[in-house]
Amino acid sequence: MAKILIVDDNTAIRDVIKIHLMMAGHEVIEAENGRQGVEMATEHQPDLVILDVMMPEMDGMEACSQIRTDPACAAVYVIMLSARGETSDKVDGLNTGADAYLTKPFEPDELIAQVNAGLRTAEDRRQAMYDLLTGLFNRRAFDDLMHRELSLRDRHGHGLSMVMIDLDHFKAVNDTYGHHAGDAVLRDLADILREVCRPSDLPCRWGGEEFACLLPQTDLENALKVGERLRAAIEAHDFPEVGKVTASLGISQAGPEENEESFCKRADEALYRAKEGGRNRIEAATSA
Ligand SMILES: [Mg+2]
Repeated sequence: MAKILIVDDNTAIRDVIKIHLMMAGHEVIEAENGRQGVEMATEHQPDLVILDVMMPEMDGMEACSQIRTDPACAAVYVIMLSARGETSDKVDGLNTGADAYLTKPFEPDELIAQVNAGLRTAEDRRQAMYDLLTGLFNRRAFDDLMHRELSLRDRHGHGLSMVMIDLDHFKAVNDTYGHHAGDAVLRDLADILREVCRPSDLPCRWGGEEFACLLPQTDLENALKVGERLRAAIEAHDFPEVGKVTASLGISQAGPEENEESFCKRADEALYRAKEGGRNRIEAATSA
């Protein structure tokens, strides 16, 4: 069942849309202005948002651009639904990041057809961005997020750090317990990442038994604290079938002009030192 967020300040319009969506078999959540819509999108991560434009507190244009910059909503499909039907309104809406623009009054059949088409697109986006086994961002999504976070670093001058995490002796886990058990370890590790990381952190599966987590607005000192919490949580966890598994971690903070490749390479080199130093430990890269 798809989850759809309706954002509109008009209760009667929300009710009409809600009835049609529910008859089409969808789960519906509602917000009555743009600000609440943005908050609910972050919290509930709907598959699709139907967004009014003229609303109090925050209009649909601003809400749309905020939803678009939220990594938690990266796959969401946005349909703007507005009484404003000039070409310039549609252009503005689509340029703000909406995927489709419909006008009021609307034909329910057309809205449902647009919703169903949008849900197919949202599913394609989701599959392109998330790792199937763990549900974390995949490497491709991580690269996009890193590119964006590095440009924000340039604009705001905040720290941006990264933790690379590699499970120790993971090949032995697979060899001893089988790939089914190995996959369960990877899923548990993803759960630990989701639990320990802060809401603004961006964990991903880098590939194989290696994970990476971007830490926006975090300097090396605070990144070390996050890394140490992760290391300790992994060490403390009882993995079903397998028992105890540890991880080695490497940390880097992006330098002022540093590019993606160098930022990752320094975290990776720190990770290598953690392995060389005896595993189940964390090492920080020296500054770029
Ligand atoms: Mg309105």
